[in-house]
Amino acid sequence: MADKVQVLPYFFGNITREEAEEYLRQGGAGDGLYLLRQSRSFLGGFALSVAYGRQLYHYTIEREMNDTYAIAGGKSHRNPIDVIDYHSQESDGLVCLLKRPFNRPRGTEPKVGPFEDLKEQLIRQYVKQTWNLQGSALEQAIISQRPQLEKLIATTAHEKMPWFHGKIDREDSEQRLLRSSHVNGKFLIRQRENNGRNVSYALCLLHNNHVMHYRIDKDKAGKLSIPDGKKFDTLWQLVEHYTYKPDGLLRVLTETCPRTSHNSEVSTVTSRTKRSRENAMPMDTREFESPYADPEELRSTTVNRSDLTLEDGELGSGNFGTVLRGVYQMKKIQKVVAVKILKNDDNNVAVKEEMLREADVMQQLDNPYIVRMIGICEAENLMLVMELAELGPLHKFLQKNKHISMKNITELVHQVSMGMKYLEEHNFVHRDLAARNVLLVTQHYAKISDFGLSKALTEEENYYKAKGHGKWPLKWYAPECMNYFKFSSKSDVWSFGVLMWEAYSYGQKPYKGMKGNEVIQMIESGERMSAPADCPPEMCDLMRKCWTYKLDERPGFSVHMHNYTVFLIRSLTTFLII
Ligand code: ATP
Repeated sequence: MADKVQVLPYFFGNITREEAEEYLRQGGAGDGLYLLRQSRSFLGGFALSVAYGRQLYHYTIEREMNDTYAIAGGKSHRNPIDVIDYHSQESDGLVCLLKRPFNRPRGTEPKVGPFEDLKEQLIRQYVKQTWNLQGSALEQAIISQRPQLEKLIATTAHEKMPWFHGKIDREDSEQRLLRSSHVNGKFLIRQRENNGRNVSYALCLLHNNHVMHYRIDKDKAGKLSIPDGKKFDTLWQLVEHYTYKPDGLLRVLTETCPRTSHNSEVSTVTSRTKRSRENAMPMDTREFESPYADPEELRSTTVNRSDLTLEDGELGSGNFGTVLRGVYQMKKIQKVVAVKILKNDDNNVAVKEEMLREADVMQQLDNPYIVRMIGICEAENLMLVMELAELGPLHKFLQKNKHISMKNITELVHQVSMGMKYLEEHNFVHRDLAARNVLLVTQHYAKISDFGLSKALTEEENYYKAKGHGKWPLKWYAPECMNYFKFSSKSDVWSFGVLMWEAYSYGQKPYKGMKGNEVIQMIESGERMSAPADCPPEMCDLMRKCWTYKLDERPGFSVHMHNYTVFLIRSLTTFLII
């Protein structure tokens, strides 16, 4: 959404109300002349400025919890452009109909707010400090979790600001403000002793050698305000606002009272807030980084039986046997693991070979969105020791948890695309990508599993040619797999489309009730599955693109799909930022 708005000629970005008025006056301020700007108080929100009867009016377009946009109390729309279209037809509470947009002067770009500039730097610092990640794990975390990180940064960025002094008392704040220059408007923000769970702050402002203390409260919706004042999503927006307008304060904020070297470390309750397991980000879990990322944990493909304890209770089962939960004693840590155990009652050589082939593929992969192999254990049975994805297969999880939001599903689907992008870049084809083979570590963290059918591609060929038809998951296969036995990352993209369909339909069976050959006929005739109910339209378009018949026109994960990733990340950013 942010993307679509950025390119609107009448979107001015982060300009103030006064600047908007100035522009509209330049445009003649005729009735119904309007422009759109970024909200300076609500994250992801916008403001609409309209001229009527020589006066100027401003309306906030808030981003609502269910990802829709509305002028406070008004009708909800899918995006701010729809809000404008609607009010071009219906005034519905507005002072007049929107008649003519006022466009940015030639050569002017939408104004970027000070936070946008700082954001990249803050995200990097945050990930480094909070999760102690480095190198590719750091990069992966930033790329894959950008929307969530942007939200975290937006709400915690004040901790990095020189005007934020953390938990200090009233006397201390006064001493700090009166220590050196006594410039009117010098200010700092402190965190007040919180009563119970509610965090509150105080804005301390120097005025004629006296320090004024304004309480900043957080309401139930998490909005911050000085009593009876304007509401903001973040402290930095509040500071930005009162820096240009007193708006009820004795004066505007002028000079920051900086933290000195001996009080530079702020103490707060938010900087390292522990997220519950349910809300954990991928980086909060032990499964984000390889257990071998620590150089002291020497990587070895073999696991000693004496270091492995198996627990009762199956996690699942398949052709080969069962999967149990276990604990693996590593050099420094104990790791909970999943152990795939080959049943050896009939000593089936083919199944054993298949499992070893799967282990061989998995051993070459190391990505946060792919189940990692920890090692092979040859004991009473052949055992494949893997990272544990406690919540099990995606389709079953969604069948049981219909309350999971579309936003949450999009987050998981996006993680699968990140894992697939990695496979594509490393020349592997999965060949069995389906919701049943995506396992969940948490409700917000998915990993691709089951590499039993996967193949490493050679340098020369970007596809794998099967010798003949096998026991194949036909409903997930692209036409070229059926017709020519040809498997490539592009055929994985087709399966990814089916996986998306399964995810957005909460784990329903694709092509329900149809036989394999009926599905083939349907695809050949150009027909495709219809979109699941409530599936976001952008995601429906995307799955249909994955089902492009011609391989050359179908997007790839990192090539054409890259556009999609950018689009998805950007739209997710706006989705998740509130
Ligand atoms: P087949 O080889 O017959 O296709 P399968 O694909 O069903 O077998 P897997 O998907 O590897 O076999 O495992 C079967 C089940 O075991 C999964 O559906 C899941 O419930 C559970 N399971 C497998 N691996 C893990 C894991 N790493 N963490 C948690 N559960 C797992």
